[in-house]
Amino acid sequence: MTGKHTVAEKLPNDADAVLAQVGGTPLVRLRTITKGLASAVYVKLESENPGGSIKDRTALSMVRAAERSGALQPGATIVESTSGNTGIGLALIGALTGHPVVVVTGDSISAEKLAALHRYGARVVITDWDAPSGSPENARAVAARITAETPGAWRPLQFDNPANPQAHYDTTAPEIWEQTGGAVTHFVAGVGTGGTISGTGRYLKEKSAGHVEVIGADPFGSVYSGGHAGQILVDGVGNTWPEADWPKAFNRSTVDRFLRIPNDEVYTTAHRLLNDEGLSLGPSSGLAVAAALRVALAAPHGSVVVAIAPDAGSNYLSKAFNPVWLAENHIRVAPDVAEELAEPSTGRRT
Ligand code: PMP
Repeated sequence: MTGKHTVAEKLPNDADAVLAQVGGTPLVRLRTITKGLASAVYVKLESENPGGSIKDRTALSMVRAAERSGALQPGATIVESTSGNTGIGLALIGALTGHPVVVVTGDSISAEKLAALHRYGARVVITDWDAPSGSPENARAVAARITAETPGAWRPLQFDNPANPQAHYDTTAPEIWEQTGGAVTHFVAGVGTGGTISGTGRYLKEKSAGHVEVIGADPFGSVYSGGHAGQILVDGVGNTWPEADWPKAFNRSTVDRFLRIPNDEVYTTAHRLLNDEGLSLGPSSGLAVAAALRVALAAPHGSVVVAIAPDAGSNYLSKAFNPVWLAENHIRVAPDVAEELAEPSTGRRT
């Protein structure tokens, strides 16, 4: 022992050092489930963010903007209604920057996400996620009530907050542009608040003079792709609200087209990503990659398709990777489902 300080005491203990790790995620090329395709499919691994999802970027961007505007004062409470990942990002940032965090969420939240919220010290309020907007049980109504009752409290309102898409315009998209050397031709993402696809899509279109095609991957039960509102079985994506209530974070004109992907194909793709590519990713990643494979199949040879993988499979061990949950929800995971669904096309080499 040379000094009187322990090694741990000498290490930097700086919240900014952790927050600096938000973003800068890897882009990896799929090798196995793309076999035979004449185009490349890349996945942006957002699970590599410190809080485990793409929503760290959004949470940090919204908190920073509110600090700048004065809407969020030091030590004030942050209250948000969220299906999970934004809450985890906010809880992480709150723990590092001294803001108590209250997360209002639905009872379908996975046990793993709930544990993460508790781990970062958030107060979690469970509501009926499907309660209509007029109901006092509605998650947004509950969040509004808690905010009103908590002096100084601030609500990020991710669905309507311009700092949400801006996070992706400022960070996610430039990373993709740089990591592909400007060669990206198609961008595929699931749409929840719409922040990811709107911010990233706008930047990529600007940079490529409109050449990058932006494709929304939508689950069954979502109205974004023109379907009827119904039960959505893919966490964090899709929307059942009438168009007048769509989030302001979502810029519909950035999306060239939507692909609606059946649940069997979503979950089969998530399982194949794990088994064949060694990538443990969540169901919304399965959704985006399933759509990206369809896009790559039909795209001109040599296209470069980039899909967003918002979070990791470890968030869904009790759901997506649990045979009982899959059976209860009538989801059939078959290794060959994706291939069965793929239509023959000139895009696949024979
Ligand atoms: N996947 C997961 C798992 C999510 O939590 C979210 C955020 N709701 C999304 C995808 C969609 O991202 P966005 O809100 O930016 O559209």
